[in-house]
Amino acid sequence: MMAGKTGYKTFKGGIHPPYKKELASAKAIVEAPVPHEVLIPLSQHIGAPNDPLVSQGDRVGLGQKIGASEAFVSAPVHSSVAGTVKEITEVTGFTGAPAKCIVITSDANQPDFERKPGKELDSFSDEELRAIAREAGLVGMGGAAFPTHVKLTPPKDKPVDMVIINAVECEPYLTCDHRTMLERPSDLVQGLKLLLKATGAKKGIIGIEANKMDAVDIMRSAIAGEPDLSVEVMEVKYPEGAEKMLISALTGRKVPPGKLPSEVGCLVQNVGTAVALFEAAAWGKPLYERVLTVTGPGIKEPSNLLARIGTPVSALVEACGGIVGEPARLIVGGPMTGWAQPDDSAPIVKGTSGILALTADVVDVGSEEECVRCGKCVDVCPMFLLPNFIVQAAKNGQWDRAEMWGALDCFECGCCSFTCPAYIPHVDYVREAKAGIAAAKRG
Ligand code: SF4
Ligand code: SF4
Repeated sequence: MMAGKTGYKTFKGGIHPPYKKELASAKAIVEAPVPHEVLIPLSQHIGAPNDPLVSQGDRVGLGQKIGASEAFVSAPVHSSVAGTVKEITEVTGFTGAPAKCIVITSDANQPDFERKPGKELDSFSDEELRAIAREAGLVGMGGAAFPTHVKLTPPKDKPVDMVIINAVECEPYLTCDHRTMLERPSDLVQGLKLLLKATGAKKGIIGIEANKMDAVDIMRSAIAGEPDLSVEVMEVKYPEGAEKMLISALTGRKVPPGKLPSEVGCLVQNVGTAVALFEAAAWGKPLYERVLTVTGPGIKEPSNLLARIGTPVSALVEACGGIVGEPARLIVGGPMTGWAQPDDSAPIVKGTSGILALTADVVDVGSEEECVRCGKCVDVCPMFLLPNFIVQAAKNGQWDRAEMWGALDCFECGCCSFTCPAYIPHVDYVREAKAGIAAAKRG
């Protein structure tokens, strides 16, 4: 465990970008309009792709399972509207890669979700909770989209003793987790308790950055009388919310390269995922909608929206009053780890935490220059990698060298690019290197 200059828990490395959270942090979550059409990608998770369970012309109900796979590492998808399947087709997803989608035309009148009367929350067994997480299609909603039931099934020889709620939300601009804590503290606590039950862990920690002290206060009240739960305040620094940094800062445990948090007895779950587990167990609700932040100087009314999965970016931007100023960049996700969009047509998925519209005055994109060997990227890398060396290896197509310099350990936080005076887009090179390494291994 390490304390920063402020005395709060933190990690070594990292950066302090302008946070800009004030644009949306005071905006209560509102429901986004149900779009005329949703495009639900069949696979929104890390793992085996789903097969469609419906065909063109089929009627579907709100929350109906429409795509699934037999594979263990997978998560089914559900319809986010009541409507009719228009087609199953390929669209360009938010990453730029093709995504097979079930396109559903929404009915004019949408039903409310019917909550199914469930059991008492503390009566679920660990096995039942894993099955519920799987059936509801739960994935990590901080962006990684790893199936939750898989995380809840750690190797038998690696028992989990601590569940950490990642409530750090360290990416600039994003405020959806912050709002969820302010507005649904007790559902988050219930979700955390279910995670403890599912894993057999004895201790639950909610880690929150010191720029959300109102959430710290509310969550501390919400865990009153729960001796196994605690709220920890963390230094404001990016990427404090990266799993390995979070675990190290809160527990002092170090996850070895290439290993998962279960290696050191930890399970990390995002705020949205914990609340979604509560909703699945208490109400029988699958993951067909999520809270996300639509913000940036290019958005007329920055907002936190509860939006249906599969809603096109364009509809959510429109729900926030549209674009203002001179648009320079539209991003799905946060400004550090998000994906720049060529247009506003991609649908949001379970892992989409934000949509940003940045204007020309805040986008400082110089042209890439030669490395000046200043070493700044090395100083800030929280994984202690040599990002400049990985870039060089990727430029030369030397995938073995890129791997040797740790390309596979890079979790694409973007600290190196942020700090680089030569405007080198390290993360682009790292992604290229990862693909090159994988292709070389396939032979
Ligand atoms: S090399 Fe990877 S982990 Fe290190 S700062 Fe750059 S993006 Fe982050
Ligand atoms: S920060 Fe940029 S210029 Fe400096 S060493 Fe790293 S890659 Fe080179």
